[in-house]
Amino acid sequence: MPERAALMAVLILERPMCLDCMETKTGMDRHETEAYLQRIRTVLHLRRSHGDRCRMCGTVGTVYWLMQPA
Ligand SMILES: [Zn+2]
Repeated sequence: MPERAALMAVLILERPMCLDCMETKTGMDRHETEAYLQRIRTVLHLRRSHGDRCRMCGTVGTVYWLMQPA
């Protein structure tokens, strides 16, 4: 997994986060962020909710996170 995809995976491990915060943390734009999420989804169980609170900024909306592999 490329370095930035790994960084994103660590950021959202068991911590729901919105796309805005992922962009801020990784320095990527929206297109890159979504592309990396797609890549992460191919190897890890990516969870998404449309009505949860981002653990970084507190905004309620669409957030993504990963569950720790069992
Ligand atoms: Zn956020």
